[in-house]
Amino acid sequence: MSQIQFYNTYSKQVEIFEPLEPGKVKLYSCGPTVYSHPHIGNFRSFLMADLLKRFLEFKGYAVTHIMNITDVGHLLDDADEGADKLEEAARKEKKDPLEIAQFYIDSFSTASELLNMKPADSYPRATEHIDEMIAMVQVLIDKGHAYVVGHNVYYDVTTFKNYGKLSGNTLDDLNTGARIEVNSEKKNPQDFALWKHDPKHIQQWDSPWGRGFPGWHIECSAMSVKYLGEQFDFHTGGEDNIFPHHECEIAQTEGATGKKWVNYWMHGRFLLFDGEKMSKSKGNLYTIQELVEKGFKKNAIRYALIASHYRQNYNFTFNGLKAAEQAIDKISQCVFTIKEKAKGNADTAVRDEVSAFIEKAINGFDEALSDDLNISKALAAVFDLVKEVNKLNSPTAAEATAIVAAIERIDLVLGVLEETDDSIPAEITELAERRKQAKLSKDWAAADAIRDEITAKGFVLEDMPSHEYRIKKSDG
Ligand code: AMP
Ligand code: ZN
Repeated sequence: MSQIQFYNTYSKQVEIFEPLEPGKVKLYSCGPTVYSHPHIGNFRSFLMADLLKRFLEFKGYAVTHIMNITDVGHLLDDADEGADKLEEAARKEKKDPLEIAQFYIDSFSTASELLNMKPADSYPRATEHIDEMIAMVQVLIDKGHAYVVGHNVYYDVTTFKNYGKLSGNTLDDLNTGARIEVNSEKKNPQDFALWKHDPKHIQQWDSPWGRGFPGWHIECSAMSVKYLGEQFDFHTGGEDNIFPHHECEIAQTEGATGKKWVNYWMHGRFLLFDGEKMSKSKGNLYTIQELVEKGFKKNAIRYALIASHYRQNYNFTFNGLKAAEQAIDKISQCVFTIKEKAKGNADTAVRDEVSAFIEKAINGFDEALSDDLNISKALAAVFDLVKEVNKLNSPTAAEATAIVAAIERIDLVLGVLEETDDSIPAEITELAERRKQAKLSKDWAAADAIRDEITAKGFVLEDMPSHEYRIKKSDG
């Protein structure tokens, strides 16, 4: 395997990737807080992990991927204040928090499927891992990293020497910026809750410190260790997860195990809309389902969300979505046309120049993604291939097969091509070709008549840019 390198938020450097175990990768992603429909910004972060995972699989690694579901403890305010997001939604919608969670988990699953995300190996839920969290909090108390005040437990950040290493926040800086109305129970303003007592909270569990509920950060420490072990390769999230969430996760897990926890931290920059972070609190959001209802193709939404580098902001626009549709059409049209051109041609030879441009494309794609997931360069390699393929006039059957196999291999990572249906009868493709010629010679009446004939035979002809077309079986 050639070398792969990634930017690591922890070291703030691009580092050569070395898996903990040869041939295997363990990846943990912070998943959704299920109190509302996830928006396309959330999915930009989830898709960054999907692209990483698919690329590592392309490179031959067996990837174990865990994505948590937050269904308790994520408060409206990072400073352990404010309502629990799920409970706030439950009160507003007059439902039980578990009902709220299930409803939005379903919404998340539907959108993940629409986006062709590879399912994680497990989606552990916070509310189903309270015992594991309590056990870790107890270890932190026993080791002197946490303290009990009444029925609450807090992490003492001054006991963890690397606190601030991930985010670059020093305790001095944080304390200077801390709010005046500091929670007086805490030893230090930056200490954070591991377990909270609040009689008004709907979801409560028994613990050695009384009834209560867990802080938000402890779920990811406890569940990642349970499913991936005390040390693993990757941890991903959006840039707002860096602080406090991931900083606190590191203090908890490394405090409890005494070992280095995660080797590579990967964070995606925000998706913006009109220059602002897309977020529930701003209300400037779109869901995947909404965009599909507006008529945008699901694979174009996926393409748009992965096609810019994860360490740059992506400004979402509808024009960007349309451009994504055209880009995918270009690739699928290339696949369709090369198959058509090679039909009936039994020649098994692959010319050197054809092998050379296929190899160049695969290598270029691989090298670009090996360089910290440089997706723009990887896509450029794909479109160079498309250009070369479109120039081929009489491809042999073997050449067409090799080209299609290369594009399909690339699409194992991109995940944007729809499954092609090879069972279009020759009679229909001939009609479609005749219609194209009629259109080229501006014989609109003939073109329309042929389209009607195709429709009557149970097929749909979709026109694409530059006189190309796609044939599908009609649904009815
Ligand atoms: P949440 O459901 O709020 O816990 O967020 C789920 C994931 O989406 C987290 O990893 C966030 O960092 C990420 N996220 C939230 N807003 C955006 C955005 N506008 N662009 C990219 N990622 C985001
Ligand atoms: Zn998390």
